Amino acid sequence: MVIDPVPVLKKIGHAIRSMEEPAVEKIAEETHDDPFRVLIATLLSAQTKDAVTAEASARLFKVAHTPKTMAALPVSRIEKLIYPVSFYRNKARHAKQACRQILDDFGGVVPDTMDELLTLAGVGRKTANLVLILSHASKSNICVDTHVHRISNRLGWVTTRTPDETEHALYKVVPKRWWPDVNLYLVTWGQNVCKPVYPRCRACVVSSLCPRRGVTKESRA
Ligand code: SF4
Repeated sequence: MVIDPVPVLKKIGHAIRSMEEPAVEKIAEETHDDPFRVLIATLLSAQTKDAVTAEASARLFKVAHTPKTMAALPVSRIEKLIYPVSFYRNKARHAKQACRQILDDFGGVVPDTMDELLTLAGVGRKTANLVLILSHASKSNICVDTHVHRISNRLGWVTTRTPDETEHALYKVVPKRWWPDVNLYLVTWGQNVCKPVYPRCRACVVSSLCPRRGVTKESRA
C-alpha cells in the first residue's frame, strides 16, 4: 500500500520554514533564478556538502558567471576555484565543456527543455530537472537527488533502487500540484532530520505517517 504523500508534504512544508535552504535554492534566489548559475551550482553540488558547494560556487562566479567568461578559463583554474568539491577535476572539465556547448549549440543561452539540457556535459536528470524548476518555473518536473530517493522510499511512497526510478515512480503517486516542491522539501528534510545515517525519527513531525522502511538505526536525539 502506498502512503498518501500529501499530508506528509504539508507537514514538512510547514516544518522547513525555520530551516536553512539548500545551497542551490539560495543561489537561485540570489541570482534571480539565473539558469546558468543554477546549472553550474547544481553540477558542483553532487555528493558535496552544501557549505562547500556554496563557497566553491561563490569563488567561481566571482571570476566567471557567464558561459562566455567561464569557457575562457583554463580547466586548471576552474579546478582551483571549486576545490574541495568532490570530483572537482571532472566537474571542472564538465563545466568548461558545458559552457562551450551552450555557446556553440544554444547561442549562449541555457536551454529550457529536458532533451537539450541532457546534451550538456555532466548534466543528468537531477540537474536538468532543477534548472527547469528553479530557473524556468516548470510545474511539470520532479527533481530527485539522493535525499529525495532515500526519503521517498523510507516513507513508503515508492519502492525503487535508483533516483531515476524514483523520479518516474513519484510522478504516479504525488499529485502534480506538489511536483515543484518535492525537491526543496525533502532535501531540506534530509539535511536536517531524515539524515542518511541515524535519521532523527523521534524529532520528526511525520513519524506517525512514516513506516520507516529500511531504517535500522535511529538517532537518540
Ligand atoms: S520518521 Fe524517520 S524515516 Fe520517517 S521521515 Fe521521519 S526521520 Fe525519516
